[in-house]
Amino acid sequence: MTAAPVNLLDFDLPGLVAWFETIGEKPFRARQVMRWLHHFGADDFAQMTDLAKTLRAKLETLACIAPPVLMAGQNSDDGTRKWALQVGPGNQVETVYIPEGERGTLCISTQVGCALECSFCSTGQQGFNRNLTTAEIVGQLWWANKALGRDPRDATKADRVISNVVLMGMGEPLLNYDATVRALKVMLDDHAYGLSRRRVTVSTSGIVPAMDRLSQDCPVALAVSLHAPNDRLRDQLVPINKKYPLKVLMAACQRYLAFAPRDFITFEYVMLDGINDSDAHARELIALVADVSCKFNLIPFNPFPGTAYTRSPAPRVRAFASRLAEAGIVATTRKTRGDDIDAACGQLAGQVVDKSRRVVVHDQRTGRA
Ligand code: SAH
Ligand code: SF4
Repeated sequence: MTAAPVNLLDFDLPGLVAWFETIGEKPFRARQVMRWLHHFGADDFAQMTDLAKTLRAKLETLACIAPPVLMAGQNSDDGTRKWALQVGPGNQVETVYIPEGERGTLCISTQVGCALECSFCSTGQQGFNRNLTTAEIVGQLWWANKALGRDPRDATKADRVISNVVLMGMGEPLLNYDATVRALKVMLDDHAYGLSRRRVTVSTSGIVPAMDRLSQDCPVALAVSLHAPNDRLRDQLVPINKKYPLKVLMAACQRYLAFAPRDFITFEYVMLDGINDSDAHARELIALVADVSCKFNLIPFNPFPGTAYTRSPAPRVRAFASRLAEAGIVATTRKTRGDDIDAACGQLAGQVVDKSRRVVVHDQRTGRA
């Protein structure tokens, strides 16, 4: 029986070095290959011209370079671009590139769907299929670089650059911990994408034990999806709050910052008309975050088919931001980008063969718990 070839996009550098050792090759060869894969976007060992022919032949038999398959790309009038990538039969995830001045942010997915069922989120309403592999997470950056015209002979040149990565696409990154952290390490590695720790942001709905692990393993910038100033409301909007309520979450934010000095937590707050957007909510929020060094990102709700929520009117969002500002908290309002191609926050749908919800539907029909 022959073992399935190893996909080299699944490795961070220490992993690749270790695998090269198992095939009797030196660490510097692993570093060379890492650069071919990620600086130059190589998808064929034949391109790796500074490797000996014998090594290339060996890699051909033992390994492969298998990014997810690109299915479709869409361009928004405002320059935002969205790609759908196939990740196994019937499943697609989405990746979004958002250019803004000198900056280019890539928003990537970490799971096919999401199991957490936040009531205002399109991904959450679709159910959950599986975790993405490291190759599928890193593969989104790998594809985007190609699509944006990164010059294969000069890793510093591209038509558009990706200066920031946010894990704010489909899925909860901290519930796919190992594959996500390995992918983060590839993003930060100088032999791969060389992004700075502060330009890579993990967004979480508040998986407290994994936040603690991340502070030790790879303390990148952290965004926490807050969305409500008290447990009663947050239990409804972000059901994982029942497991990790606000007091516990705020303490975890403080612990995280102890390992990421001079940083701040970005609190994301989706503005839902008449639900969480009053001055009273703002006041409660100010008291809640008093001991956490933070900024707020107010996100006007992006509707999707079947949702009962509506977006807070712009003057309400401005008033809410003013209340926070009066208390000395920086609050920016996220511009809605790419909504003509359904690429805005919370609208990423992809295609999810739901494995979680189907069981529930079946149970409801049969009347069994
Ligand atoms: N699961 C992670 C990361 C993906 S969601 C998390 O929840 O943080 C990225 C951000 O988009 C989160 O802040 C999420 O709450 C927000 N979001 C989800 N649905 C939205 C919608 N319909 N409109 C605006 N923002 C939304
Ligand atoms: Fe999952 Fe984040 Fe959507 Fe909640 S907001 S359902 S955690 S993707």
